[in-house]
Order: sequence, then C-alpha cells, then structure tokens
Amino acid sequence: MVSYCHCGDCKRWTGAAVPVLAGFAEADFPLPPGLRERHFGEAVTRWTCAACDGPIAGRFAYVPDQIYVPLGIIDQMDALAPTMHCHAEQQVPWLHPEDGLPRVQGSGRDALNAAK
Ligand SMILES: [Zn+2]
Repeated sequence: MVSYCHCGDCKRWTGAAVPVLAGFAEADFPLPPGLRERHFGEAVTRWTCAACDGPIAGRFAYVPDQIYVPLGIIDQMDALAPTMHCHAEQQVPWLHPEDGLPRVQGSGRDALNAAK
C-alpha cells in the first residue's frame, strides 16, 4: 500500500507538505540496526537515522503488523505510485490533485488494513 498522508504528524515528521508513505508487512521489512526509536504514546513508534535524525519508518497501532516508510527514501519510488489519500481533510489548501484516487477522511485504517 502506498498512500498520501495529509495528517499534520506526517507533514512534520517527513518535512514534506504532501507526504507519501509506503506500507510493508512488518515481517518483510526488517529495520536496520542502529536507528533511533521514539514512542509517541502507545499508538505510534517512529524510527529515524541515528546520524541525521531523518525519517526512516513508522509503526501505528491502528494498522498492526505494518511498517510505513516515507517514499522519498526508497530507491524504487518511481514504481510505487500512491493509490489513495489519507487524512484528506488536512490537505494543504493549495494542492489540487486531479488523480482520481480515493480520498478518505481520517487515517484510512480500514483500507490500509485490507491491503495487508
Ligand atoms: Zn499521517
């Protein structure tokens, strides 16, 4: 699953006004050692590079067993087109996507869990 996430947390975490995240089965995506791990309550875990603090991956309790990676750090990003917009209600007002993709209010957890 690859999705735009327009939520404020992803914007701040990635530094992108229009973040795109790729979801992977956690079992298929072992995180490399040495990352900095931070917990935000019990629902969110984010990993950043220990050297530069750049975003590497996130795990969210509402989509169990999945790891989400900012698309900009994936070498194969050209082949990983987004298929939906999550948190569409928080999209920046100057963006006018005409991509025809589904736009969900909130996290889109039902679609994200169905994509496992
Ligand atoms: Zn988000």
